[in-house]
Amino acid sequence: MMHKIYVTRKIPQQGLDLLKRYAEVKIWEGELPPPRDILRKEIREVDGILTLLTDRIDKEILGAAKNLKVIGNYAVGFDNIDIDEATRRGIVVTNTPGVLTETTADLAFALMMAVGRNIVRGDRYVREGNWKTWEPMLLLGMDINEATLGIIGMGRIGQALARRAFGFNMRILYYDEYNIQEAERSFNAKKVSLEELLQVSDYISIHAPLTPSTRNMIGSKEFSMMRKEAILINTSRGLLVDEAALIEALERGTIAGAGLDVFQEEPIGKDHPLCRLPNVVLVPHIGSASYHTRTKMALMAAGSIIETLTGKRPENIVNPEVLA
Ligand code: NAD
Repeated sequence: MMHKIYVTRKIPQQGLDLLKRYAEVKIWEGELPPPRDILRKEIREVDGILTLLTDRIDKEILGAAKNLKVIGNYAVGFDNIDIDEATRRGIVVTNTPGVLTETTADLAFALMMAVGRNIVRGDRYVREGNWKTWEPMLLLGMDINEATLGIIGMGRIGQALARRAFGFNMRILYYDEYNIQEAERSFNAKKVSLEELLQVSDYISIHAPLTPSTRNMIGSKEFSMMRKEAILINTSRGLLVDEAALIEALERGTIAGAGLDVFQEEPIGKDHPLCRLPNVVLVPHIGSASYHTRTKMALMAAGSIIETLTGKRPENIVNPEVLA
């Protein structure tokens, strides 16, 4: 009998085609994520599900699944899934590491440049018809070259950002649970305490995953340690930052600016307090959003679902103890 797979949103066609070669595939065609009652109903009979970070796969949803063997998450982060519960139920969870590393690092670097050099502010200034003449003091920003970059979480994306920063002649500090010798050797990165990183960095970029230990790791105490010229970049997950404390730090000038791809609660609307601040650049969680990368993610998520269902061990398994 053919396997059954549910896909919670339209993903690039190549991924869907791959799934359809091996399974009966049902796709949620909605523009928004499937409501929970639909998810609960659809997960009941399927062998595999391809999920997005907007699908909360918790105990209750997993409790409805009768045949589920694999969850292929279309993201490297998997904080939307109750991994312990999936493991307890013998369900394999996979993610899409590596294929989105460079694209996400590109966006983090783009945000650094956009905030530091007033790209969005400058664009607004021109469009609003404010440009009168070349001015010696117009829209002065912060250099990227020779500035100090503090990377929180020197994993795949953190190291890809360090490579870019090294090319721009930045001084690189990092904070991680591990010593990342490759980054120290190749990019002259120096491991420091979180406190030191916060105190001396011009740019601070967050690349740690969302876990109980990283949730709210940057709050008012941490903002108070930062330089008033500091610019915070977050392309990791919104919940690593206490957003109310961030807004206060930006309003009071405790720090100079922020570039954000991720938010405490997504999406944010145009009345969100962050939208009133001139010194932030906001983008709608597009870290991995390039044609090329999203196709690779679709193929990887689909591939690991098929591998699991055909008795192979997917390389990108998040809870390998299920197959031990
Ligand atoms: P990774 O696992 O390779 O790297 C994470 C690093 O963080 C590791 O070196 C780890 O040791 C470190 N870390 C973990 N807990 C820490 C802590 N408490 N303090 C300091 N360091 C800690 O992951 P990655 O592939 O580089 O991805 C990082 C995160 O980026 C993902 O978990 C995901 O949430 C996010 N992400 C976002 C987008 C986007 O669209 N904005 C795209 C891809 C990834």
